[in-house]
Amino acid sequence: MRDSTLVTLLGRDPEAQHGLVNPPVYRGSTVLFPSVEAMERARATRAVTYGRIGTPTTRALEDSIAALEGGYRCILTPSGKAACNLTLAALLRAGDHLLMVDSVYGPTRHFCDHTLARFGVETTYYDPRIGSGIRALFRPETRLLFLESPGSLTFEVQDVPAITAAARERGIRTAVDSTWGTPLFFKPLTMGVDVAIQAVTKYIGGHSDLLMGAVTANEAVFPRLRAGIEEFGAPPSPEDCWLALRGLRTLAARLQRHQQSALEIARWLERRPEVSRVLFPALESHPDHALWKRDFTGACGLFGVVLDGYGEAAARAMADALELFGIGASWGGFESLVLVSDPTPVRTAVPWKAEGAMLRLHIGLEDPEDLIRDLEAGFAALRAAG
Ligand SMILES: *Cc1c(COP(=O)(O)O)cnc(C)c1O
Repeated sequence: MRDSTLVTLLGRDPEAQHGLVNPPVYRGSTVLFPSVEAMERARATRAVTYGRIGTPTTRALEDSIAALEGGYRCILTPSGKAACNLTLAALLRAGDHLLMVDSVYGPTRHFCDHTLARFGVETTYYDPRIGSGIRALFRPETRLLFLESPGSLTFEVQDVPAITAAARERGIRTAVDSTWGTPLFFKPLTMGVDVAIQAVTKYIGGHSDLLMGAVTANEAVFPRLRAGIEEFGAPPSPEDCWLALRGLRTLAARLQRHQQSALEIARWLERRPEVSRVLFPALESHPDHALWKRDFTGACGLFGVVLDGYGEAAARAMADALELFGIGASWGGFESLVLVSDPTPVRTAVPWKAEGAMLRLHIGLEDPEDLIRDLEAGFAALRAAG
């Protein structure tokens, strides 16, 4: 079955729920057993044994995401940031060396530079476009290689199969933050990556009203990952899992619309005289378009716009002038968003160079013609300020 059918079926069992279409919210901490022996037996399996380890609502969502990612199993975390950071904490120890992509989500970089450094893990940042050249950075103590493709601020697409193959030769584990690709458009676990991470907060949630992360792994790495993450005792609430399952049902339909509108608006932006470059891998003009086409089956609604010669003050005036694009963090909801973003402070391996200030746009589910009219007014404000 295709993913667009699977998202409507996964995690549901109406027969077990009095015929109701959706699984209910199971709340609970204590789980009762008929005997001591039954309790011991249950603990040795994946049965529900204690609320912190997961309820049937949690399991329904974990199993759905694992199936879509093509992984062995999934473990949920209370945010996307927790999913990234708990993965790092679970797979690394003092004395280990971590290879981290330079285009990584800022808060993940912060965790490496501060918390991991404090616990004796050394991080080296690498060029997202390094490909199999990554071999030159391997050290005997390199234990984990972390990818994010494309980067959610600067949109470089990584050669995930080449980098993963190089790491495998040396027994180095790999994890990828796959939030931009979503479990529908990018399947890193089928390309040899050990761990795929989603900020469920983004498109799976889809409505800007919940925070969650998901970590899906292959069978070899999952036991260590689960043991490490469960150690922190931070599960998401069953209500949030239920909301995420509701978001999942429309994920395929929403993504099609996000993709279509984003492409239309990105092409329109490319032709604007105020714009130098549009950083959207689905555009033929993007330097990594061929890689994106090879490895992805679609694009979401998030991309960057490098302005031609306009500085930050003008970019801010443009963002302030937009009415349909809200100014705010995050993305993946039904609504359009704009951020004035400067990647300069979060790049160390490859300094960020651009012809002007940068805007990051999330194209929501509004009519693209309305969004274009809004952007036209924004450009007028940009020119007036620039
Ligand atoms: C938003 C985001 C996260 C963090 O998700 P939260 O749920 O906001 O903590 C991690 N990685 C990427 C690429 C993101 O865009």
